[in-house]
Amino acid sequence: MNRSVKKKITVIAVLSCLILLGLAYLKFFGKVKPSAPVRPTASATASAVPETPAAETPSETPEETPEATPETTPESTPVPTPAVPDADITSDDSMTRLLNKTYTVSSSYAPQDLRTVNVRSDHPQMMRSEAADAMEKMIGAALNDGITLKLISGYRSYREQTSLYNTYLYRYGKEKTSLMDATPGASEHQLGLAADLGNWSGYCDLNTCFTGYPTYTWLQDHAHEYGFIERYPTGKENITGIMGSPWHWRYVGVEEAGRIKASGLTMEEYYGKTN
Ligand SMILES: [Zn+2]
Repeated sequence: MNRSVKKKITVIAVLSCLILLGLAYLKFFGKVKPSAPVRPTASATASAVPETPAAETPSETPEETPEATPETTPESTPVPTPAVPDADITSDDSMTRLLNKTYTVSSSYAPQDLRTVNVRSDHPQMMRSEAADAMEKMIGAALNDGITLKLISGYRSYREQTSLYNTYLYRYGKEKTSLMDATPGASEHQLGLAADLGNWSGYCDLNTCFTGYPTYTWLQDHAHEYGFIERYPTGKENITGIMGSPWHWRYVGVEEAGRIKASGLTMEEYYGKTN
């Protein structure tokens, strides 16, 4: 009996020891366990965090950067230096012949297709045929809008230009005359492609106060539709070499006039010939 009692006690002791060990094990790992899942969570988060930004940030950054950089650069570049259009600016007979005190025309040049512009006028004026057609259309269109344009001056030969220059020289002196559209060989009137326009009333003829009239506003809004551009804008004197002349309109053709007007540039700037 003693033996069996001893055995029972031993078994109970061993079992209780095992239970205690088991409890201790549970207690120990029960505490450790929560810290163990933290690691996988942390590693999962860590792996998720770098993956997400790695996927989003780099894809966003390169997309934004190249898009923004090239867009800004080419957009800002064409404004000061526009792509030079494929237009003939050197041939005397070209509608887009660039003419100024640097790029002059010979004293012997005269267009071969001049004709009288068929509009109401006390002093009939001539222009090159294509420009005359456009002028007649424009004056007719203005009339439909209640604006009576007056064609003050069209074609002027080199000889007439020289006479005008000498008159101005006597009246205003050399400095002021050089800023007027009068220098022989440098006037677009010799090309038969320029016209001085004014109010039918004659108010502010060849004067900057012309800008205060609806006639000028109409020209600003519509002249390009007929192929004409304001050639010597006020504020661009240092580029054109000519004082602001809101009455002087140059024929360049409808397409080119639209492009030049939209650019907001002078012919010199538009064709990259500002020197
Ligand atoms: Zn003029």
